[in-house]
Amino acid sequence: MATINDNYLKLKAGYLFPEIARRVNSFIEANPDAKIIKLGIGDVTEPLPEACRTAMVKAVEEMGARSTFKGYGPEQGYGWLREKIAQQDFQARGCEIDASEIFISDGSKCDTGNILDIFGKNNIIAVTDPVYPVYVDTNVMAGHTGSANDRGEFDGLVYLPITAENNFTAEIPSQKVDLIYLCFPNNPTGATASKEHLKAWVDYAKANGAIILFDAAYEAFITDSNLPHSIYEIDGARDCAIEFRSFSKNAGFTGTRCALTVVPKTLIAKASDGSDVELWKLWNRRQSTKFNGVSYIVQRGAEAVYSEEGQAQVRALVDFYMENARIICEQLKAAGLSVYGGVNAPYVWVKTPQGLSSWDFFDKLLQTCNVVGTPGSGFGAAGEGYFRISAFNSRENVNEAMKRITEKFKA
Ligand code: PLP
Repeated sequence: MATINDNYLKLKAGYLFPEIARRVNSFIEANPDAKIIKLGIGDVTEPLPEACRTAMVKAVEEMGARSTFKGYGPEQGYGWLREKIAQQDFQARGCEIDASEIFISDGSKCDTGNILDIFGKNNIIAVTDPVYPVYVDTNVMAGHTGSANDRGEFDGLVYLPITAENNFTAEIPSQKVDLIYLCFPNNPTGATASKEHLKAWVDYAKANGAIILFDAAYEAFITDSNLPHSIYEIDGARDCAIEFRSFSKNAGFTGTRCALTVVPKTLIAKASDGSDVELWKLWNRRQSTKFNGVSYIVQRGAEAVYSEEGQAQVRALVDFYMENARIICEQLKAAGLSVYGGVNAPYVWVKTPQGLSSWDFFDKLLQTCNVVGTPGSGFGAAGEGYFRISAFNSRENVNEAMKRITEKFKA
């Protein structure tokens, strides 16, 4: 009889979003006329930028002629896309990143999970709490943890709370850890990291031989010009950090799928015999073996993000969502709620009022305003007492949802 990877049995069966759906569905059954507005899931709603669509249509045409047809491409991505990313996303910001250190993929979700393939089994792993759940669940699947306690915390992981008390910045741990997941601007809290904060992490990582796994999926939403967009803006990060980026949220590629991972050639980790190994070589080997690249058509679409029109259109998309975020923050504050985030990130992190639990607040919003958000406790124990509202929606829905909330909560 075949056996399974028992580690999967340690996972809670995708508790958060199915539970949200269950509560929403039972509410709709009881209230079939209710006009529900969903500000829960972090999926984009606006169409793909025209520059990307035009480039993809052209690429489809190229696939229709033998002379321009493309079969398998380089597993690492096409050079023309990697060059543009290196120049415009990194070198233009003073980051010393070469095109050969950029790996194109079909998503940051898979990259942040797959990266564990190249690391050993005995690393001490730190995650923030609350956290993007993929970092935790992929470590559970890989057998890097024990079981979960009743707060949902897995034995063997180091949890770094990010709450209002520490201004939503993960404090440097007093103990030694080997892998650290950082996500800034943060999902779910919308918090950001200053250069000084990231410098402290880089210094810690270098002093301890640790690797930072830096998720910059939301860097395009940074509006404050003092904030770093990339961890490589910090001196020394080339020696201790891998960065993940995605076209999902800036250019609306959630359904189109394109992302990138930066693995500097200067990154070293230890083999079990004590020798030094370049992580770039391992990731290159991993991708060449298990991945066959992103489609040519999609990579042409991503390339168009870097054209003049593409840049302007992506800026307009991001500005659109950030105006939603501004409206959400303004209206929730007017309703007397404490809000965080929403300035350099498309997520607003709300302190639940009257000491309500995250789920009680979820139910209250659903029942009194017919608005759906995401309970903060679903992202980790330290998210209890918070609630995430996403700015990814139409202006009409955002305005209507905020009108309902202010009316109910002001009263
Ligand atoms: N990283 C973070 C922090 C996210 O919030 C998300 C999506 O919500 C992703 C990565 C996934 O990105 P992708 O669509 O490229 O897989």
